[in-house]
Amino acid sequence: MYQSFLIKYAEIATKGKNRYLFEDALVRQIRRALKPVEGTFRVCKEQGRIYAHAEGTYDYEEAVEALRRVFGIVAICPVVILEDEGFEKLSQDVIAYLDAAYADKHMTFKVMARRARKNYPKDSCTINADLGEAVLNAFPDIRVDVHRPDIYLNVEIREKIYVYSQSIPGAGGMPVGTAGKAMLLLSGGIDSPVAGYMIAKRGAKIDAVYFHAPPYTSERAKQKVVDLAKLVARYSGPIELHVVNFTDIQMYIYDTCPHDQLTILMRRYMMRIAEQIALENDCLGLITGESIGQVASQTMQSLMATNEVCTLPVYRPLIAFDKQDIVEISEKIGTYETSILPYEDCCTIFVAKHPVTKPNLKVIARSEEKLGGRIDEMVKTALETREKIWAD
Ligand code: ATP
Ligand code: MG
Repeated sequence: MYQSFLIKYAEIATKGKNRYLFEDALVRQIRRALKPVEGTFRVCKEQGRIYAHAEGTYDYEEAVEALRRVFGIVAICPVVILEDEGFEKLSQDVIAYLDAAYADKHMTFKVMARRARKNYPKDSCTINADLGEAVLNAFPDIRVDVHRPDIYLNVEIREKIYVYSQSIPGAGGMPVGTAGKAMLLLSGGIDSPVAGYMIAKRGAKIDAVYFHAPPYTSERAKQKVVDLAKLVARYSGPIELHVVNFTDIQMYIYDTCPHDQLTILMRRYMMRIAEQIALENDCLGLITGESIGQVASQTMQSLMATNEVCTLPVYRPLIAFDKQDIVEISEKIGTYETSILPYEDCCTIFVAKHPVTKPNLKVIARSEEKLGGRIDEMVKTALETREKIWAD
């Protein structure tokens, strides 16, 4: 029944002369999202609105699912577009529309007519009254409620006539491409994919870096991270994933420094390397899935020690979230099932029984001094030998 979707978007942050940038980014993201969907779509701005028109047959469910992953959309309204063939024909078509769209007519409605084309013979008040009456006459179970109707029957008179009453909630946020780019530290856990999703939702493009430690971490563990990147990319658009071999660095720290500091030292080198890759790729910040108090490496003292080595801002969207809340988001966005697959992570392999929870910055610095120039060589090699995987 529907050949078109009216895309509703929030305008709060984008009023004024930059509005077109926001709209153009949204159009691009809608096109990207609809590309893999069965069917051909034309996405365009028309009279200050965005529409996705299907040309010929298409998969409705799939199209709606794809649109629901586009940031910047607040609602998706499937719309029926009619030729103007007089008011009598319009009434018949609106009745046929309601009949097809709602099996059960025990509901209340309100007509919301808008006459954008001023030469239409009836004004909007008259259209409301006359269409309302026609609908009431057609369906004995239906009632009018002008205050809190179950459905708003929108009828917009333009060159053509647009009829819609359903509003499917969208993902919200800002279209990807309106903020800048950030580098996500993506592990195989639950948190980091959610963190990436949240920053992308604010309009940022993301790339990602994953530290693996073969042979201690397996190919399957790496594949899991690639899979997670692909799942996040369904929302954020393509992600370039940098896979950094961290084994030598990890082993060297393990052999040289006190074991209770291992996690913090590793985390500092991860941040340094991630920042280097971020700067090479025009990223404006780093993203992690850290949350205060979740583990020893995420106490406020540990976060301070990790943060110290970065000059770029580190975005930590989950910083105040409880684990359960993070799990709920990961279930909602579809990363949870992959995140809980039981493959080893490089952080967990050499982990000490009693890691420091209140690292002292001076003590940490002294340990790093012991690593000397050799660690810089290792960092350089790790950067040079990194593998790039396109997650789309
Ligand atoms: P997650 O569920 O995201 O793995 P976590 O609770 O296991 O997080 P940590 O292992 O302490 O926490 O990691 C904290 C953050 O550091 C992660 O959210 C992620 O951003 C980053 N991180 C940890 N391990 C890696 C890794 N192997 N590669 C890339 N980033 C990592
Ligand atoms: Mg982890």
